[in-house]
Order: sequence, then structure tokens, then C-alpha cells
Amino acid sequence: MPQDDVLCALLKQIRKYGKKELLSQYETFEKNGQFPNKAVKWLAEMGVFGLIIPVEYGGSGMGAEAAAYVARELAYWWPGLHLIWTAHNLAVEVIIQAGTDEQKRLYLPRMAAGEIGAFGLTSPAGGSDALTTNVEAEFDLRSKCYSLTGDKCFTTNLEQASIIVVTAHHVGFVRKDISAFVIDMKTGSVPTGFTVSSEGEKYGFKCASFCRLGLNNVSVHESARLGKSGEGFRSFMHSLAFGRIGIGAQSIGMSERIFYEAMKYCRDRKMFGGTLWDKQTTQHDFAKARAKLWVAWQGVVAAARKCDAHKDFKAEASYVKYVATETAKEAALAITEMFGGQIVLTTHPYMQRLIEILLTGIYEGHNRVQLDIISKYLAKEFGE
Ligand SMILES: Cc1cc2nc3c(=O)[nH]c(=O)nc-3n(C[C@H](O)[C@H](O)[C@H](O)COP(=O)(O)OP(=O)(O)OC[C@H]3O[C@@H](n4cnc5c(N)ncnc54)[C@H](O)[C@@H]3O)c2cc1C
Repeated sequence: MPQDDVLCALLKQIRKYGKKELLSQYETFEKNGQFPNKAVKWLAEMGVFGLIIPVEYGGSGMGAEAAAYVARELAYWWPGLHLIWTAHNLAVEVIIQAGTDEQKRLYLPRMAAGEIGAFGLTSPAGGSDALTTNVEAEFDLRSKCYSLTGDKCFTTNLEQASIIVVTAHHVGFVRKDISAFVIDMKTGSVPTGFTVSSEGEKYGFKCASFCRLGLNNVSVHESARLGKSGEGFRSFMHSLAFGRIGIGAQSIGMSERIFYEAMKYCRDRKMFGGTLWDKQTTQHDFAKARAKLWVAWQGVVAAARKCDAHKDFKAEASYVKYVATETAKEAALAITEMFGGQIVLTTHPYMQRLIEILLTGIYEGHNRVQLDIISKYLAKEFGE
């Protein structure tokens, strides 16, 4: 448990609500692929949607360590609910990093109160190559508006979000000249040229929306641009690094859920005159998983603390994104096998959970991208 009393109290409340409410809601909402309004509302009331938002902008002002603890707890109960929250936080983080005081006052208190955020970075053409944005921004001097054209794929929360942050490349400038823009869905009707369509049915995180955003000459005023023109890349790289610590925490929470359920199962499962747990190989599988998950969690906390100390934490964020998610995947795979042949049944959540854990290695920067980042730090350390 963390040392902060407020955070401890919050985690206890999430755990209580998790046992009492989230477990049963999980089944229904995941089965129907329905957005969990009730749980999201509860989280917003508990201040979770404003957890990382500074106090002066209506949030709780907690940092990366607190966010990691909450991520692990939420993901333990409901990975899809965690995904909704973490996608919201990505938009929040970009606004915190790049927004002016006026922009922060305009958007952050609303997001702290539970208006949902979405961050559209991934493009069909670019995928892991985040510099290829697919959306072009063209500025009109007379109207002081940008016209945004292009599309984004795989964006979480798009259907529910009222504050959507999208990245776009400035027409006529070099590839790296990217800015993030806010599309405020609350200021009026849906902007002309703006479309949202589902990417299709999913195997995991079914409660969260997963959509394609189409922008056809969508007009946004220059005041919707976050930060100086073309300097977006740095700010959202910081936001992604922040998010990577959370994904490390998410993967550990998800793996711990499988661990817990498998442990109960193995201790009850009768075979060969005893239980499955009685086999030393079973015990060793659990022991290895426990040890590795514990070590991975220490890394997550250390990276989060470095971030909270306002030091450059980007290398550590990549270490933990890579190690925690790979560890969680390995542990989950070894342990899920203990449920035997029944894992193939759609009536059990085991396969869904495995797929969800697999995805933690893919989003928020693929793990191979993390290795590229770590290699760049190594090259710097040892001379190019
Ligand atoms: C559930 C979910 C939610 C998501 N939510 C969001 C969101 O809210 N906002 C958003 O912007 N995006 C979101 N994404 C998109 C996610 O970030 C991308 O899926 C991810 O960046 C990978 O891009 P891609 O799927 O196009 O795969 P690609 O980039 O095409 O990668 C395919 C494969 O190429 C390989 N590869 C990739 N990079 C390298 C490399 N550097 N070196 C060697 N091999 C490599 C890997 O094997 C990888 O699996 C979400 C994705 C999922 C699954």
C-alpha cells in the first residue's frame, strides 16, 4: 500500500466497490459491449477522472505514483474500465503539458468533473510511427482557423468524449511539425465534416468504444491549438511516457486478477489423489509469477516516483512499459493454462483476459518501439 493516506482511502473504496459492484457489472457490460456509464459516474464522483489534474484546475493534483496504484487496482477489477480512464488521462496530460492557462481553465475542470476525454494519435497510415499523423492542418490567416482533414483510427472513448484531442501535421511544413488540437464537442452541435464510426466488434475491452475519426475540413479556431505551432510532438511524447507507466501498472493488475482466480481454482481442483496446487510444478509456476510481478511493480513505482520528482523519466517509462507488460503476459499465459481445456469456452473470460494482456504490449507505443527508445538512450550513454 502507498504511504499517502488519501490515496490509501481511495484504493480501499475502489476495492470495496470493485467487489460489490464492478465484478457483476463487468459481466453484463463486457458481454453486451456497452459503455459502463454507472461505473464511470462513480469514478468521477470519487475524483478519479481528475486524479492527475492539478488542484487549481479542479483536480486532486496527484501524480504518476498515485495514478499507477489506481491503474493497477482498476485493471484488476475491470481492464476495460481502466482503459477508458487511461485514454481520458492521455487527453488530460496533453492539455496539462501543452495548454495555456486559459485552455487549462476551459477544459480541465470539466474533465475532472467527469466529462470524458479522448486522444487521437494513431493514424491508419502510421500506426506505431506516431509522426505519420494522417490528419493535415491548414491555417487560414483571415479567419484564424485551422481546417483539419484526415482520419485517426483505434481511438478509445471517441463516442462518449466531449473533449477530443487530435494530432495533426501542418500543411507545407516538415514531418515533425505537428500540433495537438482540441475539438470541443460541448460547445454546440457536432462540427461539420466530423464523423465517428466503430472499428468493429472486439475480443477484449468490449465496454470501451474503439472508433475511427473522420475529419473533412473540420474548422477549429487557432485558440484550440495546444502549445506553439508545430511543437506538439514533444508534449505528447511526455504524455505517452506518463501513460506508459500506467500501462505497466495496468498489465500487472490484470495479471494479478488471473493469478488470484487461478490460485482459487488450483486449490480446489482435485486430481491424482490431491489438488492441482499440491503439485510442486504448480506451486513453482505461481511462485515465479509472484516474484516477477512483484519486481515489475517495483519498477513501475520507481519510474512513477522519478516522474513525480520532475526528473526526466522517459527511459524508465519505456523500461517499465516493456518489462511489466512482458512479465504480465508471461505470467498470465503460464497461469491461464492451469484452467485446462475449459479456457476455450466463450462462457469463461480467460481468453478475453489473455487477449487484453497481449494488447498492453501493443498500445501506448508497441514494446518494440520501447526497445528502440531504450536503444537511443544507450547510444547516447555510450556515444553514438
Ligand atoms: C484497445 C486499444 C485501444 C487503443 N486506444 C488508442 C487511443 O485512445 N488513441 C490512439 O491514438 N491510439 C489508440 N490505440 C492504437 C494503438 O496505439 C496502436 O494499435 C499501436 O500504436 C500500434 O499501431 P498499429 O496497430 O497500427 O500496429 P503497427 O504499428 O502496424 O504494428 C504492427 C506490428 O509491427 C511491429 N512493430 C511496430 N513497431 C515496430 C518497431 N519499431 N520495430 C520493429 N517492429 C515493429 C510489431 O510487431 C507490431 O505488432 C489503441 C489500440 C488498442 C488495441
